[in-house]
Amino acid sequence: MADTRQPIKAVRGTRDILPPDTSLWQHVEDSARRVFHRYNFHEIRTPIFEATELFARGVGEETDIVGKEMFTWEDKARAQSERSQSLTLRPENTAGVVRAYIEHKLGESGMLQKLYYVGPQFRRERPQKGRYRQFYQIGAEVLGPPSAGSESPARDAEVIVMLADLLREVGIQQWSLHLNSVGCADCRPKYNEALRAALKDVVHTMCADCRRRAVNNPLRVLDCKVPEDQPKIAALPTIGQYLDEKCRVHFSEVKSILDATGIRYDVNERMVRGIDYYTRTTFEFSHGGLGAQSALLGGGRYDGLSESLGGPKAPGIGFALGLDRFVIALEAEGVTAPATAPRAYIAPLGAGMNPEAAKLAHELREQGMAVEVGDESFRLKKSFESAERAGIPFVVIIGENEVKAGAFAVKDLTSGEQVTVSRGEIVKTLS
Ligand code: AMP
Repeated sequence: MADTRQPIKAVRGTRDILPPDTSLWQHVEDSARRVFHRYNFHEIRTPIFEATELFARGVGEETDIVGKEMFTWEDKARAQSERSQSLTLRPENTAGVVRAYIEHKLGESGMLQKLYYVGPQFRRERPQKGRYRQFYQIGAEVLGPPSAGSESPARDAEVIVMLADLLREVGIQQWSLHLNSVGCADCRPKYNEALRAALKDVVHTMCADCRRRAVNNPLRVLDCKVPEDQPKIAALPTIGQYLDEKCRVHFSEVKSILDATGIRYDVNERMVRGIDYYTRTTFEFSHGGLGAQSALLGGGRYDGLSESLGGPKAPGIGFALGLDRFVIALEAEGVTAPATAPRAYIAPLGAGMNPEAAKLAHELREQGMAVEVGDESFRLKKSFESAERAGIPFVVIIGENEVKAGAFAVKDLTSGEQVTVSRGEIVKTLS
């Protein structure tokens, strides 16, 4: 039997995020919401678990995510009216957003849907710095019927420009943007054929995943991380020369909008990103301060995803950023969140003073001021120490005399000065 005295710890690959670190997380979340609203995005919240089939069909059976990393369980029917089904903690949020788009017929408005989400995702990866089994993403998607302009390269570029704005707003400077086009349903089969042909002679020397993928989904061979396979992968053909005319024009328009807006990027034809739904534009922002897990965020276009999930034609483009990694990058660049200590510490002095202290605290909080309250059992010295340790600049002392006089002693801990202030003046003094 388990030793009940052993403390229980967070599960491997999960972690607690504690204050004051949470301030930096909130800083990223608040900045993202602000920037997204400027670009007319609105929030969507989808369930944390979905039918496993959604990810199998959306993300792709041959991807690492679906093949190896999902937290999946069989949800047994408990009543005749229910059916057993396989469920999965979402490993990413794009498939869920597109499912919601289809389910709620959002395309029928004829308008572009510009949606963003914030929340945890789950992948059973080998945990290391910047890689967790429960991690947090902020992402956005632009999708809609083609008549709403959803296929336009202007949408791809707008999303990328928005991300550059977000990075600036958050305070991350040392990023680089890698860009590619992975073609479309018309031209990619030709590239896949070229990969198959090139792999034919070498694949027997490669890892088991590569051997299987060379047959089923050769593009995914490019996701392989096995060091011995890398020289063989480097020798494979690149996608650029296989793009058809439409994809080539689309890609060059995305680039010319980025050029016009002054966004720096490099084209990396090896970057196919490990998810099957991508078509045309794919991109990744990386950061030098992240170590091995250098990707800050990634995204791309997914023109066929809605249809592969049984929905209408709804081309789209989106991205997901790793909130965990944004915080690491901010720390690497020395960015700290603004301090959030309360303005005043209310020190009830002597027996029976707790109600008076609570009354004053309530009045101040009603007026929007953050305050902390001590306890009548504390000596004044302890109240001062508590205030100082918490970085609170003022102590308000409430004793019997103060209550009778309708005035309080306010001590400024920075200057050491102490003044007597009437109840009506207190907010002004503390501000
Ligand atoms: P993806 O959904 O794989 O395109 O990932 C998008 C972004 O999410 C990545 O660029 C990372 O910043 C972040 N991310 C993905 N997997 C993890 C993980 N296991 N732990 C922390 N962040 C992750």
